Amino acid sequence: MFQMVCLTCGQVCGDLSAANCAHDGGVLDVRYATDDFPLQPHLPGIWRYAARLPLTDPKHIVSLGEGDTPMTPSAQLGAEIDLPQLFFKNEGLNPTGSYKDRIASVGISYLRQLGRRAWSATSSGNAGASLAAYGGRAGMDGYLFTLEKAPRAKIAQIMSYGPQVMSVKRLGYDPAAEAATWANIAALCDANDWLMLITARSNSPHAMEGAKTIAYEICQQLDGEAPDVVYAPVGGGGLLSSIWKGFREWRAAGRIDRLPRMVAVQPLGCDPITQAWQADRPVQQLDDCASAVSGIILTSPPDGDLVLDDLHESDGWALSIADEVTYQAQSELASREGLFVEPAAAVVWAAARADRQSGRLQGDEMVVALLTGIGFKDSVAVQKMSDDKPLPLIEASDILHIAP
Ligand SMILES: [Zn+2]
Repeated sequence: MFQMVCLTCGQVCGDLSAANCAHDGGVLDVRYATDDFPLQPHLPGIWRYAARLPLTDPKHIVSLGEGDTPMTPSAQLGAEIDLPQLFFKNEGLNPTGSYKDRIASVGISYLRQLGRRAWSATSSGNAGASLAAYGGRAGMDGYLFTLEKAPRAKIAQIMSYGPQVMSVKRLGYDPAAEAATWANIAALCDANDWLMLITARSNSPHAMEGAKTIAYEICQQLDGEAPDVVYAPVGGGGLLSSIWKGFREWRAAGRIDRLPRMVAVQPLGCDPITQAWQADRPVQQLDDCASAVSGIILTSPPDGDLVLDDLHESDGWALSIADEVTYQAQSELASREGLFVEPAAAVVWAAARADRQSGRLQGDEMVVALLTGIGFKDSVAVQKMSDDKPLPLIEASDILHIAP
C-alpha cells in the first residue's frame, strides 16, 4: 500500500489519486508502508519492482517490455578521458525508444486502475510517443498537445499510435503559451474526468514512480553497488529527481550502503536549473530559449526546485553544454561506442568529458551516464551527423580498387 505525502508541509493527503497538496499546492510524493520490499522476478521489466509502484492489482498492468535496458561499459570514450569505469545506461532500447516508457507504463496502468478512459498531455515527442503507445494498447483515447517546433519525425511516431495530436502556437518558446497550455489541459481533464499525464513529479507523481526503476536497475546491474556519479539530462527535472528517489529507496531497503552524486546536465541556451544552481537561488523562468536540443528545452522546469534539493542532498552539481558540443558528442557516441542516441541524451557524455577535463570528476570514479532516447527520432540531428561525410557513387568494378 502507499500514501501521498506533501513534500512542502509533510501532511498525508487523504486522496490517493491527488497530484498536489490540498493545503499548499505542494508536490505529493508516493510513500510506501515499509522500507524493505520484495522483488517479483516473475513480472516483466520494471514490474518486478511492483511493490514500489502505486498499483494495487497486477491485472491493471499495461506493459510492452519496458525496462531491463543495457548498461554498456564504454568501449573507447571513457579510456580517452582516463575514466575507465564509464557506463552508458541505454534507455533508447525501451519499446518506443526512450525512458518515458517506464513512466507511461505506470501512468496508463494507474489510469486503468482508476477506471478512467482517456489521457491528455503536452510533450515535445518522447513522452507523447510513450503515452500514445501504451494508451493505444490499453484502448484509451489520447489527446496530445505538442510544441510548435517539435521535430516532425517525433510527431509522426506519435500520430501512428492513433491519439489526437495538436500543435500549440508558441508552445516551447513562449512562457505565457506554456502556462496557458498546462492550465487548460488540466481544466479539460477535470471537465471530462480524464487524467493529465505530464512527465513531471509536480503533475503526475504516480506515473513518475516508473522513472525511479532506472536507479534500481543500475544498482542491480553493478552487482549490488551504487555508482559514484550519475549524469542525467535535465529539462523539466523529473527524471533526475525520480532517479535520486530510487537510489534513496534502494538504500533504505538495505540493498546499497551509499548513494551516488547526481549531476544535472542542461543545454546552454535553455538552462534555468544550472543558472539557479550557480547563483544559489530558486529556479526562475527564462524569457526565451536559444537551444534546439529537443526534449530538454523547458523555460520553466516543473520539477526544477526538486532537482536543486537533490543536487544539494547528493553533493552533486549542474552544468550546461552548448548545442554544437552536444551534436559533436552525439556523433562520437555513434562512431566510437556504437550508441545511436538523440542529442538530448548525448549531453551526458559531453558533460562527463568537461568535468573530467576540469578535474571535477576523478579518474577512479564509477560513472553512469543516462542515454535517455534513441537517435532515430530527431531526423534533422541525424542528418547533421553525416552532412560533412562524402557519399561517393562508384562502379561495382571500383570496389576492387579500395585501399585499406
Ligand atoms: Zn502541503
